[in-house]
Amino acid sequence: MLSIENKPDYSYQVRAVKRLAGYPRVAVSAVGKSLCGRCIYVVRIGHGEPRRLIAAGFHGMEYITVAAALRYAAELAAVGKRLRGSVAVAPCVNPDGTQIAVTTGKRWQANARGVDINHNFDANWQGVRQREIAAGITSPGPTRFGGSSPESEPETRALTDLCRRVRFDRVLALHSQGREIYWDFGKCTPPCCRELAEKMAEAGGYAVATPEPMALGGGFKDWFISEFHRCGYTVEMGLGKNPLPLSDLEAEYPRVRNILNVFVGENDLRII
Ligand SMILES: [Zn+2]
Repeated sequence: MLSIENKPDYSYQVRAVKRLAGYPRVAVSAVGKSLCGRCIYVVRIGHGEPRRLIAAGFHGMEYITVAAALRYAAELAAVGKRLRGSVAVAPCVNPDGTQIAVTTGKRWQANARGVDINHNFDANWQGVRQREIAAGITSPGPTRFGGSSPESEPETRALTDLCRRVRFDRVLALHSQGREIYWDFGKCTPPCCRELAEKMAEAGGYAVATPEPMALGGGFKDWFISEFHRCGYTVEMGLGKNPLPLSDLEAEYPRVRNILNVFVGENDLRII
């Protein structure tokens, strides 16, 4: 049970990933550093293909996703010996922003420079910029500023470098909130992506969301789909107002676990 004392701040994350490193067939590495020098960790459970990636903690106030990702990684680690293929879990892509939100209570989504990581990926970045300007967002701040150029931020590059190196066959980004699953990025999207979105939605009691065309771009799943023409998903976990209280995790986690189990793949990445 999470309490106020173990909110998923940076020291909590470090302790959690180091604990996971002790399991067989689990490898922990830092794939980059944040602006303030915090490690961006990836926990890989299992070996080889198929290769999946689950990433969380893109937005500071969404630290409930960090706790959920760490818990799922721990559950996978416990069965890792019997897992076929591999699942990489990046529990906190934006450790500085998470630290700001967790320790100060500030309403903060961006990284330490005030750039929103999920507006910083190179997928219709100019279109996203136009929407930011229309919304009056023209400089760094707590949310929705996409940076000076695509991939200008070390946190964004840590993830894109990892994907270019590892060639995941599909990825999932955990955000909060809304109990919705996004799967589409226009023409680049393989036709099979919707089907898995529907299966995940059914497993968790979430809705498949179809965004307005104008709402597309800048995010990790958008970039992954356009770069690799493979499936990428955004799962908006929980229901309420960010930051969701960590006490919501106990009730919400079983839904998230069901969704992640479908994503990981009960057929081709089964526990053997
Ligand atoms: Zn988010």
